Amino acid sequence: DLSLKLWRNHPGLWHDVLPVPDVEGHKYARGHTVVVSGPAHATGAARLAARAALRAGAGLVSMAAEEDAIPALAAHLTAVMIKKVDGAQGLAGLLSDARLNAVVIGPGAGVGQATCERVAACLQSEAAVVLDADAVTSFKDQPARLFDAIEARSAPVFMTPHEGEFSRLFPDLAEHADKVEKTRKAAERAGAVVLLKGADTVVAAPDGRAAISARDAPWLATAGTGDVLAGMIAGLAAQRMPAFDAACAAVWMHADAARRFGPGLISEDLPEMLPAVWSQLA
Ligand code: AMP
Ligand code: MG
Repeated sequence: DLSLKLWRNHPGLWHDVLPVPDVEGHKYARGHTVVVSGPAHATGAARLAARAALRAGAGLVSMAAEEDAIPALAAHLTAVMIKKVDGAQGLAGLLSDARLNAVVIGPGAGVGQATCERVAACLQSEAAVVLDADAVTSFKDQPARLFDAIEARSAPVFMTPHEGEFSRLFPDLAEHADKVEKTRKAAERAGAVVLLKGADTVVAAPDGRAAISARDAPWLATAGTGDVLAGMIAGLAAQRMPAFDAACAAVWMHADAARRFGPGLISEDLPEMLPAVWSQLA
């Protein structure tokens, strides 16, 4: 009965499985997240995601970047390690390290075949994978290729489309009136946790679980906030939080950060609000 699997997204849903650092733990125990940078002219989105993954508690965050993107990244990153990769093959090589726990791809990536190849490389890894933005849109002409690659792996996959990105990957579902139903159908088809973003973000798992957010964080409607959310999900997933719970927690904490900041919020502010969000949850 699916009506028993629909909740309001609230800390009571996932609080018990939030990651808590072990007193004896080291950074490796808290998980390693990799963010795949966009090209030289579009590195900011990946930096937002990387900062968010750190604030979500990942012990290590690395940025995978093509050589020409490295100067821009290096000028602005501090705790984030930069890993030079050459094409999709280079990315696959980096990600073959089984100690990497989560990967984010899509922010600033660009739409096209090169992004499809890089997504395929991510999906071949053993890490949890967050597919955001252009990583979703790039499969608009070949969605089955994406769904088949997801089916072939066992680690979790998250997709974080807004309505426009959703309609490109799931054109037949886009006109569906019921947002919960269409997100559930997409999650089942993709074999992924799907977050259909907006004022009332719906998170759905392939098994039919779904959670809907309150419409109470309008400050989030500003550039770059989606990139932050993608990084937060990966940061929580890297700490081995169960996938559906990690997605719900990231959405709620992202909105709570915005509520705390209020007017004037820009996306950079969200990661910096997370310590306050965490301390209220502790
Ligand atoms: P993106 O479209 O990728 O930039 O992501 C935008 C982020 O802001 C998502 O997390 C949305 O759920 C959130 N968002 C956008 N508009 C609103 C709104 N009116 N109220 C609350 N959250 C919103
Ligand atoms: Mg976006």
